Amino acid sequence: MSLVILTMLKTLQNMGCKMELRQFLNKFSDMETSGDKFKVKCPAHDDKTASLVIWEDDRGYIALNCFDGCITDSILGKLNLEKKDLVTEKALTQYKKNLPSRKNKGNY
Ligand SMILES: [Zn+2]
Repeated sequence: MSLVILTMLKTLQNMGCKMELRQFLNKFSDMETSGDKFKVKCPAHDDKTASLVIWEDDRGYIALNCFDGCITDSILGKLNLEKKDLVTEKALTQYKKNLPSRKNKGNY
């Protein structure tokens, strides 16, 4: 792959091709809902019941919790995802909001 395409892809990713909870859940065929959380079969161990709980926390990050104790990294590895894929658009927006703003733009 040429460097130009790689750079373009990187730019696209930085521009907000972010994972959303819906997209994340699309990776699983079966799921149960409980409140605003979702239970699916954990891809990181031989799961007979749905023991992986997925939800979006109040900061906008996708959170994972396997009752069998699988660590997030190994679950993501099975899904071909990385930690950065757990950052939703909402989290990104909040993060940008919390960055110190430049104070040369007059009064607020
Ligand atoms: Zn597990």
